[in-house]
Amino acid sequence: MNKDIRVRFAPSPTGPLHMGGVRTALFNYLFARKNNGTMILRIEDTDQKRFVPDAEEYIKNSLAWTGITFDEGVDNKGNFGSYKQSERKEIYQKYIKELIDNGKAYYAFDTPESLDKLRKEYESRKEVFMYNSATRNGLNNSLNLTKQEVEEKIKNGEKYVVRFKIPENKIVKLKDIIRGEMEVNSNTLDDKVLMKSDGLPTYHLANIVDDHLMKISHVIRGEEWLPSLPLHYLLYDAFGWEKPEFAHLPLILKPVGKGKLSKRDGAKMGFPVFPMEWKDEKTGEIYAGYKEDGYFPESFVNLLALLGWNPGTEQEVFTMDELIQIFDLSRVNKSGAKFDPEKAKWFQHQHLQRKSTDELTELFLPILNEKLGYNVQGKAITDYTKKVIELLKERATFVKDFWELGQFFYQAPEIYDKKAMKKAWKENTVELMKEVVKLLENINDFEAKNIKEKLSEWINNREIGFGKVMQPLRLALVGGLKGPDLFEIMEMLGKTEVLKRIERLIVNA
Ligand code: GLU
Repeated sequence: MNKDIRVRFAPSPTGPLHMGGVRTALFNYLFARKNNGTMILRIEDTDQKRFVPDAEEYIKNSLAWTGITFDEGVDNKGNFGSYKQSERKEIYQKYIKELIDNGKAYYAFDTPESLDKLRKEYESRKEVFMYNSATRNGLNNSLNLTKQEVEEKIKNGEKYVVRFKIPENKIVKLKDIIRGEMEVNSNTLDDKVLMKSDGLPTYHLANIVDDHLMKISHVIRGEEWLPSLPLHYLLYDAFGWEKPEFAHLPLILKPVGKGKLSKRDGAKMGFPVFPMEWKDEKTGEIYAGYKEDGYFPESFVNLLALLGWNPGTEQEVFTMDELIQIFDLSRVNKSGAKFDPEKAKWFQHQHLQRKSTDELTELFLPILNEKLGYNVQGKAITDYTKKVIELLKERATFVKDFWELGQFFYQAPEIYDKKAMKKAWKENTVELMKEVVKLLENINDFEAKNIKEKLSEWINNREIGFGKVMQPLRLALVGGLKGPDLFEIMEMLGKTEVLKRIERLIVNA
């Protein structure tokens, strides 16, 4: 293990993990595994207002489903615990105190109402209020109070926050593996709150303290955190700590229009945005999941990997192991990656084609049992199902498709496609079908090849179009004009069932 490479996935349990979050976890994972590094799971749960009880479990289950594993973190061993921020309160307080003692942070007693009022005043002058070097001297904070006054206020239970004292007019030079070098003037930054009035740290403070203490070497996270990077740089400087390297991953964009892919896009356009189904306890809404929709974890991983990263070759279908071999942060794009739900299905189709018949059969049998309403058992039905799968595999994207595409292998059609009937069932069809019944009755060796030979010979002799016989025949056996090779179907169903189905349509047509 390369001791120096340490990355973390640091979700906040504020709701279900969006597929963009899983992509962040995946890129961290691929980077760690590629470089024999350590992958850490840290739960950033300091925002009590946004805390959602089942979210942490959901996040862990989703990551387990995708095959992303951790070496350290909540539920794993590790020397840097606790890996849950709500259990690290004292640590953050110690570091906040250090900043205050060194004059890098200060107590601020301004009430939310007074700040709101200020913001509105600025707005009315078409200006934006910022709490920083331009304004902090006129505000209610420890920079403008004596030590006694501050102690008095705290003793009297006055509510306060701790703010970071952003240095005045400093050019902050930033470096990002994906985006290169950037510069920001510190005057454009706010004196961000580091500790809230509930005594808990904000994301910014807890995040960098933990990254430092957990010896994180590379921070790989979503682009939405890029605006926080100057602040994080300044915080590292304030503590005198060495910075990790940063890589901000591009946004995942809506399939159509502009902007970030949201859960509403998924609901509107009928594709999942979450790895697993999620029920919002407050609203009762249920959001679809890739897992429940029938995607394989390897398809989901594959489609995520190619959102914002490319291998530099034409290859698109990868297993996790193949991704680990070739993953490289230098091939991550700067610009947002448009999500294409059809392409997502394409990946699933590809991975289904890669699965063995045995595995697909095993996955399909429970679905079959459910659809039939009873449990099929035994070698005969398993072998039969294997043949069904072989015949249908090319057309299937999801395992459940084997039922949609091949129900007729198990049940005689009860309804016949009306349009197809109109097209295929002509005046003389009944007579033709009666002749076909006779012909088939006389075939002893009921194998696809043999049936094909006999039926073709008869059709040629009768000088009728192939379709005139085959289409109504297909209707009788399948219920529509779709499906794989009809002679194969006949062999599979067997003579008795084939004759029964044709006779049934003759009577019903
Ligand atoms: N807790 C942050 C999140 O939910 C982590 C951001 C980071 O990786 O720094 O995305």
